[in-house]
Amino acid sequence: MVSVWQSFMIALARSGSLTRFVQRNPRISSAASQFVGGTDEDSALRTALALKQQGIRASLFFLGEYITDPAITRQTVDSLQRLLPALDAHGLDTHVSVDPTQIGYAIRPELGEENALRLAASFPAQHSTRSFLMIDMEDASYVDCTIALRSLLASRGVPAAITLQAYLRRTESDLASLLRDRVPCVRLVKGAFSEPGGIAWTHSAEISAAYLRLAAVMLSDQARESGLFPVFATHNEALIDSIRALARESGSAPGEYEFEMLYGVRPKLQAKILAAGDQLRLYVPYGAHWWPYTARRIGENPQNLIFVWRALAGR
Ligand SMILES: Cc1cc2nc3c(=O)[nH]c(=O)nc-3n(C[C@H](O)[C@H](O)[C@H](O)COP(=O)(O)OP(=O)(O)OC[C@H]3O[C@@H](n4cnc5c(N)ncnc54)[C@H](O)[C@@H]3O)c2cc1C
Repeated sequence: MVSVWQSFMIALARSGSLTRFVQRNPRISSAASQFVGGTDEDSALRTALALKQQGIRASLFFLGEYITDPAITRQTVDSLQRLLPALDAHGLDTHVSVDPTQIGYAIRPELGEENALRLAASFPAQHSTRSFLMIDMEDASYVDCTIALRSLLASRGVPAAITLQAYLRRTESDLASLLRDRVPCVRLVKGAFSEPGGIAWTHSAEISAAYLRLAAVMLSDQARESGLFPVFATHNEALIDSIRALARESGSAPGEYEFEMLYGVRPKLQAKILAAGDQLRLYVPYGAHWWPYTARRIGENPQNLIFVWRALAGR
């Protein structure tokens, strides 16, 4: 369920004038480093290597969403083109996450496709089977084009994975058709946008129940036989425990699925996941355009506002 506070922070995340104002403030910028893994490809790579030392995999995301300037969409692809060979050279089992609106889908679909194909052309031909280009899922108006984008990338030989949102009522049928298309990897999330009751579950108990129903499908024999690698992205400990139990029941060993959390969020729970012998990946955003991302983190947990207050107060 998206709260009034969360809707408010989503609106602030999309405000261009606020973004320009906040991103110029060095104190808030330094507070954001709690959630942001670096300002460029080199620092993002260093963060991924440091996480590897702790037995944690990374999913790198070049910051920027709902981009309306075509030049910035091209810069996004340029950054990913610089990053991909470096990850490969370091043998990192690192996913690269991308939002459709980052590469032009909020401007016109043709621009998004053009950028997607540029990205596909630069994907290393020899890649680790577990290194996916993970497409994030944005608001409900983008679901169809996101599924089409994944198919386009897969048709060009890219190991393209997709994020599905448990709160959308259509997701059960989307998952079934993706499994028929032999999607190699799905990342399941609850869903972070404010969607109406007609198309989405809106109460947290309903969303968790939908999440577990979808998790059971992702861990089923049918999904395993189709070659699916399931990723469960959540910070919810009860959900994590239930998924682990589902995995045991379905005969999935740790390493045949993984949990994913956001960089900087609930580090004690991250340590618990590793201690339980499960595989953990962290979603590590990098880049200079950090305010919309940080605002959404504050929307998900008002406690994160404390970091910003402390920074503003110089502590
Ligand atoms: C790796 C990853 C990728 C994601 N990609 C997408 C995407 O592509 N599209 C999309 O719509 N959504 C995405 N999300 C967000 C997701 O949809 C949820 O909104 C978010 O994860 C909150 O649900 P939860 O199950 O993690 O935690 P909840 O059940 O909401 O909360 C569990 C506990 O974790 C704490 N918590 C949750 N989130 C945070 C946070 N950010 N900071 C601090 N504490 C927190 C809560 O305060 C609570 O104590 C992604 C999330 C992750 C982890």
